[in-house]
Amino acid sequence: MKHVKTFLEIEKLSRSLDVPVVFYIKTKRKSSFSTLISAILSSRTKDEITGEVMKKFLKEVKDFEDLKNIPLKRLEKLIYPVGFYKNKARNLKRLGEIILDRYQGKIPQEFDELIKLPGIGRKVANLILAEIFQKDTICVDTHVHRISNRLGWVRTKTPEETEKELRRIFPKKYWRRINKVLVAFGQGICKPLKPLCCKCPVKKLCPKVGVKKSSYPLFPFNR
Ligand code: SF4
Repeated sequence: MKHVKTFLEIEKLSRSLDVPVVFYIKTKRKSSFSTLISAILSSRTKDEITGEVMKKFLKEVKDFEDLKNIPLKRLEKLIYPVGFYKNKARNLKRLGEIILDRYQGKIPQEFDELIKLPGIGRKVANLILAEIFQKDTICVDTHVHRISNRLGWVRTKTPEETEKELRRIFPKKYWRRINKVLVAFGQGICKPLKPLCCKCPVKKLCPKVGVKKSSYPLFPFNR
């Protein structure tokens, strides 16, 4: 399976790249509350910003009880400047209330329950299941979607389609690893606008589907 071999090469390289923020917070804080919050805040936000915001956030908000009780305006100020901070603050307040009132303070472990929660869509739900509950799921964000298409693993238009295809072509034991590896790779090498193909360990295996500009001559790709 060529795609598995390519993935393993990328995984090897990813160990020398910066760890994506959600995984960093998970390892450093070792709490499902902070992992969940960082997964929500990191959406449409640069990792450096999420990291800085998480530092000040966790000084004041340590659990769902604090989240329920903090005034909305204060919460907005705390999470500024993450993307969509006003919406996220409103959703986080509701999330605190719902988790305490409906789930006895525990994060639900089922996908269908998670996506009912405010501010949690398919991507974040899969990330939570994989990283908090060690379930075999694939979180497809913009990096995973873009890179899987560039590498020719999938030919899809939406992250949902990509998730379905990746589930089909990768054995289950790889599913949980895909997000961490491809996010680190997407931030460090296979960047959205101008991928650093010259530094890429799989450049000879990659058809570079849809890549218009690169730091490496695009054709012929298999030199
Ligand atoms: S060769 Fe370029 S487009 Fe292909 S995976 Fe590597 S960095 Fe991305």
